[in-house]
Amino acid sequence: MTAGGNAQKGKRRREILKELGLTPLWHVRPARPARPASMPQPPELSQERQAAPLPPPLPAASAMQAESGEQVCSDSSVGAVSALEDRRSKILQMGWEELEASVAGCIACRLCHSRTRTVFGVGDQSADWLYIGEGPGAQEDATGEPFVGQAGKLLDNMLTAIGLKRGRNVFITNIVKCRPPGNREPRPDEAQCCEPYLARQIELIRPKLIIALGKTAVQNLLHTDASLGSLRGRLHQHSGIPVIVTYHPAYLLRTLPAKAKAWEDLCFARSTMEALGTSG
Ligand code: URA
Repeated sequence: MTAGGNAQKGKRRREILKELGLTPLWHVRPARPARPASMPQPPELSQERQAAPLPPPLPAASAMQAESGEQVCSDSSVGAVSALEDRRSKILQMGWEELEASVAGCIACRLCHSRTRTVFGVGDQSADWLYIGEGPGAQEDATGEPFVGQAGKLLDNMLTAIGLKRGRNVFITNIVKCRPPGNREPRPDEAQCCEPYLARQIELIRPKLIIALGKTAVQNLLHTDASLGSLRGRLHQHSGIPVIVTYHPAYLLRTLPAKAKAWEDLCFARSTMEALGTSG
């Protein structure tokens, strides 16, 4: 890169750090040549939050509805658990396009009634970095793309601050693919109904590192009720993939002091990725 290009990049970085509320204290550290001794090795990731291979069974639902995929997650009639497992295993065999089409036509939970568009995710299908948020908001519901509102702008700035860019070696998606009305948190049955889609996305993308954004993403991915604060700063795993947790950008917009912690998390993510053998 030319000196002018470097200066431009430096200026942009300072603007981003300002946006994050972190100037003048923060500097991006240069790449570390070797894995720090304190960093857990990928195959020996923190074992305490192992993702269960299968989620606990959903409330029973009618087998017929489960086959059509309609409203299965809020039905509690007997005998539908195996139909739901069938649905899950069908989804887990889908290729990317089929998966995308399946999400677009999904009517498996109540969120299908109020959504405008499903929000499958955006980015590189073989990304090393997978960012997972909670669920679409109003602008995402209208456009079909995740994180396009104010929180999305901050997420883009957070990506840039560690040398990443939406769509380039990064995939961004959510726990649920349809907007919960009024931006409420997704209910457990809604998240569980959407889980096979996320599971298949993770299998197909095979990211090196997952960044869980906010409590809903963290709790669903790691199957824990533990507070986000207590889970920060160390590696967890989901399906054998390292997971780093950090605050949701929407929370950061409301809670300025958390931005410094988010920056620590980003630096941790960056150094972890470097230790895993790639940087961006
Ligand atoms: N918040 C999320 O969690 N996801 C989005 O896509 C947008 C806002």
